[in-house]
Amino acid sequence: MNHTIISIKEPQNEPVLSYAPGTPERHRLKKELERIANEQIEVPVIIGGKEYTSGDQGKMIMPHNHHHVLGRYHKANEKLINLAVETAVNAQKDWERLPWMERASINLRAAELINREYRYTLNAATMLNQSKNVHQAEIDAACEVADFLRFNAYYMSIIYREQPHSERDTINRLGYRALEGFVFAVSPFNFTSIAANLPTAPVLMGNAALWKPASSAVLSAYYLMRLFKEAGYPGGVINFIPGPGSKVGKPVLSNYHLAGIHFTGSTAVFQGIWKQIGENIGKYRTYPRIVGETGGKNFIIVHPSADLHEVAAAVVRGGFEYQGQKCSAASRIYIPTSKWNPLKKILEDMISQIKIGDPRDFSNFMNAVIDEPAFDKIMGYIKKAEEDTDTEIIFGGRGDKSTGYFIEPTVLLTTNPHFITMEEEIFGPVVTCYLYDEAEFENTLHLCDETSPYGLTGAIFAHDRRAIQLASDILRHAAGNFYINDKPTGAVVGEQPFGGGRASGTNDKAGSHINLHRWVSPRAIKENLYPPTDFKYPFMN
Ligand code: NAD
Repeated sequence: MNHTIISIKEPQNEPVLSYAPGTPERHRLKKELERIANEQIEVPVIIGGKEYTSGDQGKMIMPHNHHHVLGRYHKANEKLINLAVETAVNAQKDWERLPWMERASINLRAAELINREYRYTLNAATMLNQSKNVHQAEIDAACEVADFLRFNAYYMSIIYREQPHSERDTINRLGYRALEGFVFAVSPFNFTSIAANLPTAPVLMGNAALWKPASSAVLSAYYLMRLFKEAGYPGGVINFIPGPGSKVGKPVLSNYHLAGIHFTGSTAVFQGIWKQIGENIGKYRTYPRIVGETGGKNFIIVHPSADLHEVAAAVVRGGFEYQGQKCSAASRIYIPTSKWNPLKKILEDMISQIKIGDPRDFSNFMNAVIDEPAFDKIMGYIKKAEEDTDTEIIFGGRGDKSTGYFIEPTVLLTTNPHFITMEEEIFGPVVTCYLYDEAEFENTLHLCDETSPYGLTGAIFAHDRRAIQLASDILRHAAGNFYINDKPTGAVVGEQPFGGGRASGTNDKAGSHINLHRWVSPRAIKENLYPPTDFKYPFMN
């Protein structure tokens, strides 16, 4: 038995490698891209560390070359899902009793494995199957995965240290039990790091999980499972059940042992899940913890005092990186009328330099959107803009899905602040600009606050401190992540805990101790060092 009191040092963020020509990382990644692109992999369902095939298979493709199949994955059926529940519930018994440092060590080892070996595999899988350029893959699949693993281990140690006050004759303790039952982790397609964090955050705190990855991002999810195994997670602690959301979700969400849901994805799906939990509320052993981070309609407010080159770079990076498929992507921009012409010129210059194509060609800044339904949905919004008399297409607007799902970076200008593309999440490379009169700055802040149901991210660009102050006050509920003179994307674990309110989620801040608190059920233990032997109090004499 180890009686040492260990503390984990606050980690450093995983350094972002450049992949510039001539670097060793570029050479290794190119080789891994070639290996994965030329292989046909078969991904099983994984329960209790064992691999299962269901026969019902889905395809993993390259969105930028959708005829190219990277492999197939087996979809979990109801029998396998029930087995996964039983396995998770049994596995948790030992797992939650394991000393916390052992659990932390597995996380820390997984992060080291990324640093040394898995970086290239995770990046290559994310580039090929999710169509990310090398920089977007590196900050996500390598760095943010490692950051979540390391920082969460550190945050766990801080949580366990939080103990109540004790008087001289008592000892009070708070035991941070895992939840009683399994956690259902449901991940989106757009971030390998979120996929890694959704099961591992609850598991780190002693829970066991069922993990359903997004069907369009199974490849990197499978490599994460291989990483988790090599790092030392025992079989049964994370059970991998790919498959269609509603089919997998239904039996899981009505199970007696469901103790928590760790979801990231669209608002509509999350609301559907919440409803199902509500309908089943009498069936569960315990009230399930519901944690969900969902959509956004993220804004940039440009004040007249802003530097327009800074604004343009933020619009291009914030709006078009990863094809606008970030929950935090900038998608509505409020610009003083007097600044529109000079800003438009800078934007035109920047956008004309953007290349779109296969992520294996490193000169491409943008790649494909994830699949055909996404392509059609985004093009549908552009068509609405084309047909609208208040709105014009300033740049881009064209798409081509013959080889890959490519859409040009598109900038719309509208005179209607409530046009559909100012209010709804598009999740594609489409940014809508709205011009306001300088004298209306304060009213425009209120307009921005009230325009959309979301509350995820937003930015103010200004050099006037009063304007910054006013914006951050009026927009206090409009964004869970608020940026001053920076693009509204790119939150870093340990630096900007991430999440939003309103329709954007429960704001449980992934990448912070706040999230980990949701995966424990504390037990207060009081020990009396000198218990009374008489029932009477002095006042009774
Ligand atoms: P999605 O909602 O379509 O899917 C998310 C996951 O839910 C997938 O695994 C899907 O299979 C599953 N699912 C679908 N229906 C289900 C059901 N009935 N029961 C259980 N699971 C079900 O989202 P997506 O297209 O993968 O990702 C894009 C969305 O995610 C965008 O709306 C984006 O804003 C959001 N997102 C939010 C954050 C955040 O932190 N706020 C981060 C990333 C993505």
